[in-house]
Amino acid sequence: MISIKQIPVLSDNYIWLINASEEFTAVVDPAIPDPVIDELKKNNWKLTHIFNTHHHNDHTGANLELKNITNCKIIGPKSDFQRIPGIDICYKDKDEFSFGNETVRIMDIPGHTKGHIAFYFNKSQALFCGDTLFALGCGRVFEGTMEQMWDSLVKIKNLPKETKVYCAHEYTLANGNFALTIEPENQKLKIRMNEVILKREKGISTVPSILLDEIETNPFLRPDSIEIQKKLSLVGSSDLEVFTKIRLLKDSFRG
Ligand SMILES: [Zn+2]
Repeated sequence: MISIKQIPVLSDNYIWLINASEEFTAVVDPAIPDPVIDELKKNNWKLTHIFNTHHHNDHTGANLELKNITNCKIIGPKSDFQRIPGIDICYKDKDEFSFGNETVRIMDIPGHTKGHIAFYFNKSQALFCGDTLFALGCGRVFEGTMEQMWDSLVKIKNLPKETKVYCAHEYTLANGNFALTIEPENQKLKIRMNEVILKREKGISTVPSILLDEIETNPFLRPDSIEIQKKLSLVGSSDLEVFTKIRLLKDSFRG
């Protein structure tokens, strides 16, 4: 079994610390070093790996400092290795490696950036997906195409429904407010949003989420919803067309 700690940093980033055994502790997307070092000390864990999902500075900013201090190995996307500071090991889609007694599978999920990977822990059914799928939302398409982003989301959608989704930002409330404009009659979305509002009022994190809940309530995984298609006047359009429309609307949404 792995144990996972959440480290909230900056305004809305989540760094994840994963311990599998004495020899295996990884940090996912470390933006800044100090809170990671503090959490390692608190748990008496020795950092052995950095997992980077993509090159953005709020995911790699602490790479070099943590590597200097701990001599850990940095793992990142092969398709974008030049932009990952201090990278040691490059992985591509379907590569697997052992981490304690877990097997971690790499998924290429480009779109937000040219190279973006997710780390999927088979046994624990835990997905670390950076800025691709968010709770009730998805990442902006900065460097890739809409088609790449949609294909990446479909890959995630096809994982086991119980998968826990560890994304890299607390955007859930704003995402949900947008989702309600796209699919206002979705009862499960309304119920989920009530829970999200209560949690955020108390300062409680809404991440990780469960993949099944995303499939049922996240509009970016639901271009096949008849309600959404009607709302967008895109009945009978392809999933990619509907997804693209939702993404463009979100880009200009001020909720
Ligand atoms: Zn990013």
